[in-house]
Amino acid sequence: MRAQVLLCPTITAYGRLYCAPRRLHRYNSSSSSSQFLNLNLSRFSGALFFHMEQFQSGTGSSGKRGMVENLKRYGVISSKRVAQVMEALDRGLFVPVGSSAYVDTPVPIGYNATISAPHMHATCLQLLEDKLHPGMRALDVGSGTGYLTGCFALMVGAEGRVVGVDHIPELVDMSIKNIEKSVAASFLKKGSLSLHVGDGRKGWQEFAPYDAIHVGAAASEIPQPLLDQLKPGGRMVIPLGTYFQELKVIDKNEDGSIKVHTETSVRYVPLTSRVEQLGGF
Ligand code: SAH
Repeated sequence: MRAQVLLCPTITAYGRLYCAPRRLHRYNSSSSSSQFLNLNLSRFSGALFFHMEQFQSGTGSSGKRGMVENLKRYGVISSKRVAQVMEALDRGLFVPVGSSAYVDTPVPIGYNATISAPHMHATCLQLLEDKLHPGMRALDVGSGTGYLTGCFALMVGAEGRVVGVDHIPELVDMSIKNIEKSVAASFLKKGSLSLHVGDGRKGWQEFAPYDAIHVGAAASEIPQPLLDQLKPGGRMVIPLGTYFQELKVIDKNEDGSIKVHTETSVRYVPLTSRVEQLGGF
């Protein structure tokens, strides 16, 4: 362990009340290091207390409905479409067996990566919602489990095009298997959704330009190929920073200029090389 930060004076994430972990271990290669990454620090620190009992109640359809209901109740989800999509795509099919699928926390998925917390998926879907109408194109960089990639596919439909890219081949294989079990399977079968092994910092030129680009790992700066592959009128959501990170929303104007705003503080695993990631950063 190299560095720690105190976030919340009480509690652990697995107590009765749900709050920020007392410590975040920065880039620690142990198996627990990634379990508190990919979350929104302001939503995750103190103000918001989700009761685990409520949030964990049920499995399958009742579990995911409970998860979405809680995200609505606490003001994370305000969009009906996002609620419908997150209810339709069962997070339980995307987390490792035995993990708490419907609790609002990131879950380690191996390879020093996590599936993002549901509130983070919901936030990013809402930020990108206007660029995820039927027929539009979306790129998910650092697609991991494929959960958000699958949500994109449900939103843009069979006339749209969704591409997920991750640099860990085992995760890409797993994401394909996850999607195959889910309501998004038909998009994969018919070819409007595909998941690829690659360095996401280079984007995925084949289907560019994209209306929506989501980056699921924190970059130190915005990769130029991703800006190039964003359609004029399109939007990118990307966590930026190393230790202190902010979720940036980047809009590309019709004349090609860009406008950037900061949405919130977050904590994500880094957008890096495969060697760095597997070595524990
Ligand atoms: N959004 C996903 C995963 C988030 S974890 C989910 O919720 O399931 C971040 C992911 O980014 C990991 O799967 C990691 O392997 C991937 N990643 C990190 N650097 C990358 C890079 N340079 N290219 C592609 N994927 C990368």
